[in-house]
Amino acid sequence: SRELVSPEKRDEDTADASLRPQRLSEFIGQAQARANLSVFIEAAKSRGEALDHVLFAGPPGLGKTTLAQIMSRELGVGFRATSGPVIAKAGDLAALLTNLEERDVLFIDEIHRLNPAVEEILYPAMEDFQLDLIIGEGPAARSVRIDLAKFTLVGATTRAGLLTTPLRDRFGIPVRLNFYTVEELDLIVTRGARVLGLAMNPDGAREIARRARGTPRIAGRLLRRVRDFASVAGAEVVDRAVADKALRQLEVDDAGLDALDRRYMSVIAHNYGGGPVGVETIAAALSEPRDALEEIIEPYLIQQGLIQRTPRGRMLTIHAFRHLGLTPPPSQGA
Ligand code: ADP
Repeated sequence: SRELVSPEKRDEDTADASLRPQRLSEFIGQAQARANLSVFIEAAKSRGEALDHVLFAGPPGLGKTTLAQIMSRELGVGFRATSGPVIAKAGDLAALLTNLEERDVLFIDEIHRLNPAVEEILYPAMEDFQLDLIIGEGPAARSVRIDLAKFTLVGATTRAGLLTTPLRDRFGIPVRLNFYTVEELDLIVTRGARVLGLAMNPDGAREIARRARGTPRIAGRLLRRVRDFASVAGAEVVDRAVADKALRQLEVDDAGLDALDRRYMSVIAHNYGGGPVGVETIAAALSEPRDALEEIIEPYLIQQGLIQRTPRGRMLTIHAFRHLGLTPPPSQGA
């Protein structure tokens, strides 16, 4: 079920591009980000200039890639996409940059994972639209300067804190994305059901929205699994009961937490008396990479008030103990 509820990208998501909003006006939620972007897009269009570089930060599955694509569409320019870990050498990035046309959008996902040598050549490219390349080796080496088209870099990161300061400073438009409200996810699920031709009543949509971990990618994935479940069970309409039964089978609990979320909290409760305990220790106990805990599991648990990040480590809150059906220890003020 971790697979299922993980907000990380999978092929299925790209396959079902029909659920992806195409225009800013169709994009649900992130009202503040949307309002700001539409002003900047209009301004850049009316001046006929490239939009300033944009950095999207926030947990996976909240719509960073989708917004980047929408921006290029609204600007009427080309869109190229790559990702930090994929760009191995400075030359790879140079090839991408020299192929851009005026005002194109270059999207770099996971930009906090660029290798430092690649990042170096990004600085003059972003600032002066110039590329400084070293050609040849040893005494014959010489440096050449290439002019680039004035492009817009759109970076996305799940860990804004890991960006180097010089890189972060070169983005004129930083945009923070937040978890979606149940109401927003409800609209997304309802629209998705319509696109998929799935009969669903409002209570069914609400149930999926409530349990989608604040994340449109998870909402879309749950919607497809609920649809499978409904068709196998011969349900004509997805109502609350059908949705609930399907979600339970997927081990998504009443609060929308999945098996790994619960294991994470259980380890802190049972092995470490509710914390504080270091994230490395938790990662080892769960045999999960620390990055995955910090990028995927913790942001939502923190937002839900189930854990706290303290200087001495992670701590469960009273809500987490209650959620696990446990009595909070006296130190937790119970
Ligand atoms: P990220 O780049 O932040 O990981 P994506 O842009 O890839 O997230 O979005 C993940 C999935 O969620 C996509 O399938 C996308 O269609 C859907 N999605 C994201 N934001 C929205 C939204 N506001 N409304 C509807 N669907 C959305």
